[in-house]
Amino acid sequence: MSEHVKCLIIGAGPAGYTAGIYTSRADLKPLLIEGMQPGGQLTITNEVENFPGYPEGSSGPVIMDDIRNQALRVGTEMRSGMITKVDFSSRPFHCWLDDEQEIIADTVIVATGANARWIGMPSEQKFRGFGVSTCATCDGNFFRNKTTVVIGGGDTALEDALYLSQLCTKVYIVHRRDQFRGTAALQRQLLNTENIEVVWNTVPVDIIGEQKGFIKKVTGLQVRNVQTNEERTLEVDGVFEAIGVTPVSDIFKGQLDMNEQGYIITQPGTGRTNVEGVFAAGDVQDPNYRQAIVAAASGAVAGIEASRFLMEH
Ligand code: NAP
Repeated sequence: MSEHVKCLIIGAGPAGYTAGIYTSRADLKPLLIEGMQPGGQLTITNEVENFPGYPEGSSGPVIMDDIRNQALRVGTEMRSGMITKVDFSSRPFHCWLDDEQEIIADTVIVATGANARWIGMPSEQKFRGFGVSTCATCDGNFFRNKTTVVIGGGDTALEDALYLSQLCTKVYIVHRRDQFRGTAALQRQLLNTENIEVVWNTVPVDIIGEQKGFIKKVTGLQVRNVQTNEERTLEVDGVFEAIGVTPVSDIFKGQLDMNEQGYIITQPGTGRTNVEGVFAAGDVQDPNYRQAIVAAASGAVAGIEASRFLMEH
């Protein structure tokens, strides 16, 4: 049996929940599908100092819980599961939840966010979950009093290294250039942290590790200095990759216009996609800012646009 909704929101990060708040208050009775990681990327962020409304700062999971509760309170219906297929060829749109249940929607707001990227080193996948991770806040605790390395030079890498420095005896941060991309305040903090060593102009080559039966363990990261071409191994117990994100847009390919990296293209300031009645918000359509507050704001825009669209049609 299929169900019909005025507004289907796909994704449960700051954009999706905020779209839920706006469309609920506009009486669209939105249905929000929460996907695999309710709360989105913020749920794996330990300390957040730049989301307004939290003068003392807060943690990602707390902020996301607050926004989710606000969306629930104003009437957003939340459902777990994944939208696995969509058909945007005619209106109302057809979407399938977990390959089974058909949801027919007058408007759709895509807020599926982005996932951490992997470098693609030869032994990376072999040691994934055994000392190789893209989430310091999830896995850092396994490396108490050990040595770890973070790869990357953006905000995520700087935050991860700072977080790990509180748990680990030593943290390397390996960056391919001689200048960080991340925020000045984080850079200052990092450069003043005694147990963090920055390895400039260096790229990762491969994970070094051991395997005994099913037990695998990381023992090092092979790296190469891009100026001298010299290779060496950093002796570490854990490797954290923080090299950016990829938008979660695969199921919309061929239906929504995207750029080369898979970011959905929206008309600036509107959230409108190439399909009338389908809007996109948050990191899935934002290659530039990728901030929780920007995602939340674009969720509000998409929510307002969806309700205006329904008034006009
Ligand atoms: P990012 O800003 O894209 O930085 C990725 C970093 O990884 C860059 O330093 C890049 O080097 C490096 N890199 C990329 N590909 C690589 C490869 N194959 N091998 C080695 N290094 C590689 O990604 P992010 O740090 O995840 O941040 C994403 C967005 O979220 C940003 O807009 C950031 O501001 C935001 N964010 C904000 C906060 C916050 O405000 N608290 C926290 C986390 C993230 P290059 O510098 O040489 O390109």
